[in-house]
Amino acid sequence: MTTEATTQDEERIPFSCCLDCGSRCELVAVKRGGKLVRIDTPAGRPDTAVLPRLVPCARGRAHRRLLSASERVLHPLRRTGPRGTGEFEEVSWDTALNLVAENLTAIQTEGSTEAVLCGTGAGAAGSPGFSGGGALRRFFSFWGPITGLGGNMSFHSVGLAENWMYGGTVDASDRATLQESRLIVLWGNNPAETHMGPNTEFFIAEARDRGAKVIVIDARYTDSGVLADEWIPIRPGTDVALAAAVAFELEHNEWVDRQFLARCTTGYDAYRDYVLGVSDGVAKTPEWAQDITDVPADTIRSLARDLGTLKPTAILPGWGPQRTLNGEQFPRAMITLACMTGSVGVHGGGAAGLGFRKGAVFPMPGMRSGPHGAGRTLHNATWAADVLSGDLQPPVKMVYAAGTNIVNRSPNTRTNIDALRQCEFVVVNEPYMTPTAREADLVLPIALNLERWEILRSWGHNAHGFMSPPVTEPAGEAKTDYWVFSQLARRLGFFEEYTQGRDEEEWVQHMAAGAGPAAEALLRDGVARLDRELHVGLADFRIDPEAHPLPTPSGRIELVNPAAEEAGVPAIASYEPQPTVPPGCLRLLTPHSRLRANSVLHANAWLQRLEPHALWISAQDAAEREINNGEEVVVRNENGTVVVPAKVTERITPGVVCLYQGTWYEPDETGVDRGGCANTLTGHGLSPSNGIATHSACVTVRRAES
Ligand code: SF4
Repeated sequence: MTTEATTQDEERIPFSCCLDCGSRCELVAVKRGGKLVRIDTPAGRPDTAVLPRLVPCARGRAHRRLLSASERVLHPLRRTGPRGTGEFEEVSWDTALNLVAENLTAIQTEGSTEAVLCGTGAGAAGSPGFSGGGALRRFFSFWGPITGLGGNMSFHSVGLAENWMYGGTVDASDRATLQESRLIVLWGNNPAETHMGPNTEFFIAEARDRGAKVIVIDARYTDSGVLADEWIPIRPGTDVALAAAVAFELEHNEWVDRQFLARCTTGYDAYRDYVLGVSDGVAKTPEWAQDITDVPADTIRSLARDLGTLKPTAILPGWGPQRTLNGEQFPRAMITLACMTGSVGVHGGGAAGLGFRKGAVFPMPGMRSGPHGAGRTLHNATWAADVLSGDLQPPVKMVYAAGTNIVNRSPNTRTNIDALRQCEFVVVNEPYMTPTAREADLVLPIALNLERWEILRSWGHNAHGFMSPPVTEPAGEAKTDYWVFSQLARRLGFFEEYTQGRDEEEWVQHMAAGAGPAAEALLRDGVARLDRELHVGLADFRIDPEAHPLPTPSGRIELVNPAAEEAGVPAIASYEPQPTVPPGCLRLLTPHSRLRANSVLHANAWLQRLEPHALWISAQDAAEREINNGEEVVVRNENGTVVVPAKVTERITPGVVCLYQGTWYEPDETGVDRGGCANTLTGHGLSPSNGIATHSACVTVRRAES
């Protein structure tokens, strides 16, 4: 890789942000006199509509601060005190690795490899096998069938809806095509903070400059509100009722694209009969939806008019509304509206699904895995309850977690801790002393993004590849996940199979060299894009569905789904109410924060200072509880208790409170979480098809001193 031009003794080293984020961004580490002095952005990269620069957010620019975080683990640590007390002693790498190998060998000798829970999940980069969960899974694939974790915590119901309706992951359009939109509806979607796809907010702003109308539908006025002409506050969990009323208005006013429905979909009659009340006697009028959603009937009519008359329309649903007890119906309703408005397969429109570019996967050779898969799989959301149930045979004796703060990131944090405490041996690969590390018997210090080689692809939104070098030596005795698992593989007898004779740099070079036509640019610049033509997803299908059928039974978009019924979900995208909020309670939302990638950046003091962690509460709900802005409040439900300051704001609709996820669990002596970990308050409830339902939580809120 080439470094950029230097001035005097200044060196500029390109690298990539490898956080678990919907974007991937280019950065430059600036070193002076060999010392890392700041993080910058690349100069001179072309900035066009087709290939805009991948501009980093504050999280990317703050990578340097992580190197010196006070929570950093610098040496292998072995527990000396009770779990959770943080009492550890330093041990050598040899001692630590031997201990892990001895525990694994003992379990293998007993013939019960499934007694090991492979703790992976949200947190680290999604590289092919170098870091975090990917590296851990690959390691165990050579060792034996373990207990794995499954169940998509991020977009379970959207993926399912795409399977049912499109026959698989739908081929979305390039984000740059949003510039052609005349109407963009961010429905429970907050690209300014969640960055689902590089430059999404840039393209939305471009569209707006060209005259597009932008509408945000959300219980909160998020940072994406600045992109919008209109904010429609809504009661969480009722989006499908709003969609049904919009559909009613589209029908009533003849704003439905019947030609598209007839040519490209099946099953619309059943949905039309539902919204008109033919099938159940209840017409889904704006007045009907007003009482359910808290959205005024006139606002619903206006929204329907926009959707029916401003073409092309891009409906961009977020993933938050599907993390509810009725979550399956939201993405299905969005896809149904996209079909009714004829938005699928056109420039500036979209399929209203995940937004992933199916045909734009950056090519890269993989790392061959071993013969073993998971012997059994527990759900990511409910694994702790399973471990504690006593029903597992063999019971889980050992947990190995890498690239995940599993205590923090799974619903019901206190149960997660109980589950770890029941296990005989817990080992974590971690850069920081997280709440999960505090529960471990052994903590192995892991190198950060700036300290290791990495190669990875952009998420599904476009086709970038990134090769990121280390720009500084690992702090203390920190090592990479790959090094740790290589050394364990050596002790357990499969070093050659695991490494295939390559160290990390050699693996990265090997993969970059295998990146097809983009290899040269990737090796030279550290970033490359596969294609440069703007792509409109499903354009061919729209023009000729017979010649370009979808992989559904009918070859068309199916609005009635027998597979949904088999999963316990209605056949069409009907509104299914959530359990009502108990008297005196408020609905709790726990979205991602722009200042963290899950819980990874909790240890970045620069970022956390930008916005103090607090519970968003409406002025109306605060007044009813005599809560003033900044005062500490007690937030409680059956799962736990959190004490945090209140942020009294008009930016959240009454009846709803919001606590960003990702701050670390920090219990006091009474078990009250002073760290404000959102999952202290979320439970194990699942939707009918086993999607997580963290946004269905309810809490009481009161002033701390009352
Ligand atoms: S966190 Fe995401 S948006 Fe921010 S710099 Fe990293 S990849 Fe880019």
